Amino acid sequence: MIIDLKTAAKFLENNDDFLILTHAHPDGDTLGCGFALCEALKSCGKNAIVRCGDTAPEKYSYMGKLCEEDIEYENIIAVDVADAKLLGKEFEERFGGRVKLCIDHHGSNRLYAEQTLLDPSAAAACEIILEVIKELGVEVTKSIADCIFTGLSTDSGCFRYSNVTPRTLRMAAEMIESGADHSKINVIMFETKTRTYVALERLALESMKMFLDDRCAFITITRDMFRESGSDESEVDAIAAIPRQIEGVSVGVTMREKPDGTFKVSMRTHEGVDASAICAMLGGGGHPRAAGCTVDGDAQNARNLVVSCIEKYFKEELNS
Ligand code: AMP
Ligand code: MN
Ligand code: MN
Repeated sequence: MIIDLKTAAKFLENNDDFLILTHAHPDGDTLGCGFALCEALKSCGKNAIVRCGDTAPEKYSYMGKLCEEDIEYENIIAVDVADAKLLGKEFEERFGGRVKLCIDHHGSNRLYAEQTLLDPSAAAACEIILEVIKELGVEVTKSIADCIFTGLSTDSGCFRYSNVTPRTLRMAAEMIESGADHSKINVIMFETKTRTYVALERLALESMKMFLDDRCAFITITRDMFRESGSDESEVDAIAAIPRQIEGVSVGVTMREKPDGTFKVSMRTHEGVDASAICAMLGGGGHPRAAGCTVDGDAQNARNLVVSCIEKYFKEELNS
């Protein structure tokens, strides 16, 4: 069931113990949501913890610590999680069917939770969390501001993408007024690269192939490339932005091999190409300009399948 802001705030006010879940392979938005909401609930005298099916990359550690103990609270909240399967295999099995409140900004949200507070016009789920926090009457502390700012900045590519609205920028300004360390956060997120990341980026660029009259650029990252570079999956998010940056490309795809041999696809598009619609053909989803899905097969078959879906989308657009 879709609910409004007031109903979500009432649910939080009327209960005491909360287990907040982020999506697996956590990013700045889901962690920012989790830690900001957790602090807000605690300041209302409630018990709250944040958990994730994966460990969080060290660069996000200034926002807070995930609970690593196996603690369960009855009121399960998922933040920035469009589909229960994005909780990761173990957490999906344990909690996926029992989420009481989902706070999210993906238009493709599967409505798997009992109640869903959804705003696809939000550049980051952190925009919605800030509204919830204000509805609860909680003061925005410096640590909450750092978390919310991180979500706003990371999901908007440092305020560059088309998902940015006046509200995003107003909220970012407000967070700076509340003490967010905006320049420090942006340096960590956008101006710092590990050596292992740079080594992986080089291999990723070498793997790039062009398709569909050069309208599609395709990067494939294999397990061998992770081994050779010393990098791991926690570092691939920044690579996903690269193929779309090539002049004339309207669909950039970055596909990485998972330990189980399947391929995780990250699609980034320019205006006029709906990434979420293309990824939906393969069981995934996301936003109009950034979406994802998982495909089986060897690298070449997986790539051909993704390219064929993009081609199908182009043909349908041409005919519509
Ligand atoms: P990613 O390429 O993994 O960074 O994902 C881009 C956007 O699409 C993110 O907002 C994800 O939450 C969303 N997304 C990725 N994979 C899926 C999926 N299988 N189902 C629904 N949404 C997804
Ligand atoms: Mn996310
Ligand atoms: Mn998000």
